[in-house]
Amino acid sequence: MRIVRAKHRDKIFYAEVLDNQSLRRFTGAPWLDGHATAEIVSAREVTLLAPVTPSKVVCVGRNYAAHAKELGNAVPTEPLLFLKPPSAIIGPSEPIVRPESSERVEHEAELGIVIGKRLKNASPADALSAIYGVTCVNDVTARDLQKKDVQFTRAKSFDTFCPVGPSIVTDLELEALRVCARVNGDVRQDGNTRDMVFSVGELIAFMSRVMTLEPGDLIATGTPEGVGPLLAGDTVEIEVEGVGVLSNPVR
Ligand code: ZN
Repeated sequence: MRIVRAKHRDKIFYAEVLDNQSLRRFTGAPWLDGHATAEIVSAREVTLLAPVTPSKVVCVGRNYAAHAKELGNAVPTEPLLFLKPPSAIIGPSEPIVRPESSERVEHEAELGIVIGKRLKNASPADALSAIYGVTCVNDVTARDLQKKDVQFTRAKSFDTFCPVGPSIVTDLELEALRVCARVNGDVRQDGNTRDMVFSVGELIAFMSRVMTLEPGDLIATGTPEGVGPLLAGDTVEIEVEGVGVLSNPVR
């Protein structure tokens, strides 16, 4: 199943994508007991929004060895966690705004996971069974500020620094998905989830031993090598195999 969050006239709702032309409206978020209605809306008449409104976005650094190396970092012996604020989230086609305080804003293509059930102290197997679905995330980063500050909060948290979407896909096998970034059509990142240092199940289980994960929370699973700059006027596309393409202009 493919789920989107959409705006139609003044109403915002979740919907299942039936085909390229039509959406079946849901009563609410499907991970919060939302269910399908009989109402069909034309896909051409809606604006797609970020498909999640999470309580938190939990991210992991250096989860692909080749990316850790390109930034001069060692591969960690346990997942390196950080948070992005929900206020950084934007949807498909919304602009990423480069802040004046940074001279080096970079894209990070990532497999995004949407949590379907509350998780606390989960095993990797329980963590996997609590996944609702997957999406594309661009973990936009002010690389100069990340280096300057040592820790990640400011560099990862600017408004618009968390593009998500365009949809959430359920029941995908996660072990070998291509994860790509293109800037103005040029391929910058072309990785595969099989090269993750920690698997999706291990990551979510580890996170759940730190903080309770709530339905609708978003997990970003780290980026493969090839991160690079975003300039005003660029268009950046994140593609996760089986999910689709998340495209955002840069201002
Ligand atoms: Zn990242």
